[in-house]
Amino acid sequence: MSSAGEKAYLSKQEIPPGYLNIMGYVDESEVNGPGTRAVVWVQGCLRECPSCFNPSSWSFEINELVAIDSLVEKILSKERNEGVTFSGGEPFWQAPALANLARKVKAAGLNVMSFTGFTLEQLQSPSAPAGAQELLQELDILIDGPYIESLAINTPDSPVSSSNQRVNILNPDFKDRVTWASDMVEIHIFKDGRRLVTGYRGSINLQEG
Ligand code: SF4
Repeated sequence: MSSAGEKAYLSKQEIPPGYLNIMGYVDESEVNGPGTRAVVWVQGCLRECPSCFNPSSWSFEINELVAIDSLVEKILSKERNEGVTFSGGEPFWQAPALANLARKVKAAGLNVMSFTGFTLEQLQSPSAPAGAQELLQELDILIDGPYIESLAINTPDSPVSSSNQRVNILNPDFKDRVTWASDMVEIHIFKDGRRLVTGYRGSINLQEG
């Protein structure tokens, strides 16, 4: 494993078993995958892609620890969540915990999609992060590949943010469900006045009220 990979693993050890370290969460999003879904942005990414849409997700320090079971409960409590999307940050650095979460929501009939900066081939190789296979087995859709600024595309007919990224349909039932676009944006306004802007290139931007 590379020293960068070791760094991620060492930091990950601070996360208690049964928990995720997340950057953000939202229910009922319509711009982060097929249909209406919850989105979990995990904390921690090593890539430092130029013009990354979520640079505050890079740090592996603990941001918000959330118990997997309480997150499952939260996702299932909203009837309109037909699935969940993992974004980041790099979801595959917390693959075992996300696989656990995915199994639980799938048992309740929801679908699961993930973004990743790795390629599918890297995730299937022996040097993949721990638990990568376990998580891949639970996914209906995987958007793979890092964001490359020089290959950026933000159009109504592209579900990916740069042309090197691929939409891998891992469950054939989802072959006609690639309905979102990389240029879409939505704003969630919460009762306490906070606003969350998401969608464009998988971004998340929380603004205090
Ligand atoms: S992989 Fe995604 S979260 Fe990580 S630096 Fe690149 S764009 Fe940002």
